[in-house]
Amino acid sequence: MCRHHHSSGQSMKLGKGGARTNLSCPSNLTRRHFGAGILAAATIPLIPNIAFSEDTPVRSLVGKLDIAGFKKQTDGSTKFQVTAKETQTAFSIGGDAFLANDKLVAEFEVSQTGVVAGLAISAGQVLSVFAPINGRQTALETPNASASIRGTGCFVDVETDAPHTYLCCCYGEVAVQNSTTGEAQILKNSYHTARFITPEGNFAEVPYNAPLNHYDDQLVALEGAVGREPHWQLPDGELIFFAPAPLQL
Ligand SMILES: [Zn+2]
Repeated sequence: MCRHHHSSGQSMKLGKGGARTNLSCPSNLTRRHFGAGILAAATIPLIPNIAFSEDTPVRSLVGKLDIAGFKKQTDGSTKFQVTAKETQTAFSIGGDAFLANDKLVAEFEVSQTGVVAGLAISAGQVLSVFAPINGRQTALETPNASASIRGTGCFVDVETDAPHTYLCCCYGEVAVQNSTTGEAQILKNSYHTARFITPEGNFAEVPYNAPLNHYDDQLVALEGAVGREPHWQLPDGELIFFAPAPLQL
């Protein structure tokens, strides 16, 4: 079990200029209707060269997010920026699901086949669950760490006041490298193992006794939103860490 504590403390100015597609989740619509709404919103010609029109891969689950800056890559994949606007902003891309806080600024890369190939997080928090696909490695970049996520649940928090990366491998496997020193570690576990990675090159186990700003019931909700259950080994067969505000997806 990892040992870390519940605190936040990030602050980051949000919002950069430019056209955005705003996604929100109206509560009076069913998921199906809502999905149709997303497609319609993303086809509004606010963004020239929008790479995803009818096949935009982002499906909002709760909260609001902006997506912007679609860039088609030579290999057929597409990059775009996601900015979360509410404390609990959840969305899915293919078989992957994400829960962000309102500080999240991230760039996603989605392959031609609709699979998340990578995400680069400039600021904020995101709890992610990835579809288990054989041989899959999802690239993660933060200002001071890079990682390769191998079909797993993980949580990343990039704090910009005291720039460091908190990364928790909630279950599965994450190979993570400190960008300053090049030191690499493989976090492989079945229940929350976390590291703090600082710009000075520290690569520390987290000396606390609960996951930082992410919770077991959120992982259950996220996996449930994409039709799965967490593949973890609960220490006593029961969930231990519960969010102050339950995530309803
Ligand atoms: Zn965790």
